[in-house]
Amino acid sequence: MASTAPADPPSSGSHACAHCGALAVFACPVCRDTPRLDDKVESKWYCDAYCQTADWPDHRPLCKKLIARRRLSRAADFVQSLWYIFKEESNDHRVVDITLKDSVYHVHGDVASPHRLDKSYRFPFPNKLMLDESVKQAVLAHTMCCHAFYHMHDTIVQLLKDLYDDVSEASVVVKNECKKRCVRSLIGGQVDEVDYRHHIMKVKLKSGEVYAIDITGAQYGFHRAMVPWAEYMSTIHGAQNYAFGTARDVIRERLRVRDLESLLERYNEETGLVFKTTLTEALWLAGGLSLPRLIRLPEPAFREKQTQILRHVQAGLHNATELSCPVTIRQLAVKHNYNLSAIMRQRGSRIIGIAS
Ligand SMILES: [Zn+2]
Ligand SMILES: [Zn+2]
Repeated sequence: MASTAPADPPSSGSHACAHCGALAVFACPVCRDTPRLDDKVESKWYCDAYCQTADWPDHRPLCKKLIARRRLSRAADFVQSLWYIFKEESNDHRVVDITLKDSVYHVHGDVASPHRLDKSYRFPFPNKLMLDESVKQAVLAHTMCCHAFYHMHDTIVQLLKDLYDDVSEASVVVKNECKKRCVRSLIGGQVDEVDYRHHIMKVKLKSGEVYAIDITGAQYGFHRAMVPWAEYMSTIHGAQNYAFGTARDVIRERLRVRDLESLLERYNEETGLVFKTTLTEALWLAGGLSLPRLIRLPEPAFREKQTQILRHVQAGLHNATELSCPVTIRQLAVKHNYNLSAIMRQRGSRIIGIAS
């Protein structure tokens, strides 16, 4: 699901040696796999090892910059893939149809049959309804921007270790003139979209390059997890800056209120616990890797380990959530000490559609 493609494999014929101008046959093996961005900056090409060594003092600063860019890009894609897995394996929406109308995907829930207190609140993710991978990503990302940062916070902290100069969060309003967008369809074709604000991260690398990290942008048609900040700014109306960790704190605070919304949030909490254990286990099985080491591996090894880890996390979450997490609303209420009858009297219980 990684959305930032690595650079094309080196091919000779189209490049001149950066040192002598002859026909080049290979790109710098250290930085050649960096994703290509709109700035068109890419690895340098050489005809032989002599020219590569001779050019090193000149190439070194660019090489370091590209390596840092590649690490951040890998970190962003990895976290985004983890989030998609997290959400797919803890789906709590009974989706019955997805329709496309005026560039907007309407996700139709099953409003006819309410959730029952003693029936599972989890539903297999409706993969059959997903028209393609981009629709699936949009649905998995929908209304989840703060949740994604909350559940991925510790993973992001580890991945970014020693990589950045500055990191913060931003709340933005997305321009959606020509992009596909994902909304939840309610009774009578009404659309559940009160708030257009979207939450992203802003990372300044030590090289000075600044990037937007958007894990859940797919709901607005933005599928790339890492985008140069200036480019991202052209797709939004305005950004309000927050300290890194704000999204996590907002959800944490939300959980302190003992209402229906926070009770249902406990589903994600349960999944979050399993996620942490499963990811730790996956890294251990991948040879005792740490997250900072993972994104520093050479390209083929990185791809292989990343696939292995993502598969393990998905299988782990798939098996463990059903076995070890409370799955009915009543079980959750008992485990987390909520007053269920008071909660059922709240207005929200009818809106969300819960019946005893
Ligand atoms: Zn040369
Ligand atoms: Zn290089």
